[in-house]
Amino acid sequence: MGRVALVTGGSRGIGAAISTALKAEGYEVAASYAGNTEKAEAFSAETGIKTYKWNVADYEESKAGIAQVEADLGPIEVVVANAGITRDAPFHKMTPEKWHEVIDTNLTGVFNTIHPIWPGMRERGFGRVIVISSINGQKGQFGQANYAATKAGDLGLVKTLAQEGAAKGITANAVCPGYIATEMVMAVPEKVRESIIAQIPAGRLGEPEEIARCVTFLASDDAGFMNGSTLTANGGQFFV
Ligand code: NDP
Repeated sequence: MGRVALVTGGSRGIGAAISTALKAEGYEVAASYAGNTEKAEAFSAETGIKTYKWNVADYEESKAGIAQVEADLGPIEVVVANAGITRDAPFHKMTPEKWHEVIDTNLTGVFNTIHPIWPGMRERGFGRVIVISSINGQKGQFGQANYAATKAGDLGLVKTLAQEGAAKGITANAVCPGYIATEMVMAVPEKVRESIIAQIPAGRLGEPEEIARCVTFLASDDAGFMNGSTLTANGGQFFV
């Protein structure tokens, strides 16, 4: 039996590619999702990956969902905090609702995902924590004050967990994707998307599988000495 891996938002987009790649590497994968049950059921039927519905923004729901995954598959050794949303608006039009929804999902949701799993990882002396941040957490982005703040916050969280977990055999790393061809990006107007692609030296959007390969590497034994790092995959658009 392979290691047990949880991917939040693992039923579509980048998360689905991560779930699929981890399964191909021999992990026992659980993919969570928020509410698109039709999509999750289709994904599960296609891949054989078990899917679980809970809202990462809710601590008690996350705790219960994680307990169910562990009851079904065993202790979670790899957690990929991938679930995320955008609610864009220029700052002068950013409502408190848009602000809080994104903070609750993309930042508090990452806390809610890792926190219930962390004590077990410490006890067992092994864990891989991987958080999907974003290029826009590294550089900021017009219209995304809420989103960029959460994704930058995720990097601070990862660097702290790296220090706290290292002596217990746990690593924590972030992946910062550039623009990837998922529903999140395909939902922006075509004109805007074209202007985004024009700024990517590679001349194209990334593929979800290209992010999945960063994650399978960080989850692997080969990445044991990588801790607190940010793996950037953005086609040459921005580097730190
Ligand atoms: P998608 O919108 O394609 O998929 C989002 C996934 O997250 C879905 O499975 C969705 O579930 C789930 N989700 C959303 N909100 C919640 C919630 N509150 N609780 C549980 N699950 C939730 O997103 P992407 O694949 O594009 O993005 C994945 C991650 O990568 C995000 O964190 C995003 O910020 C980051 N990212 C994406 C980039 C891109 O270009 N696409 C670039 C950089 C970073 P459901 O299907 O039920 O709605």
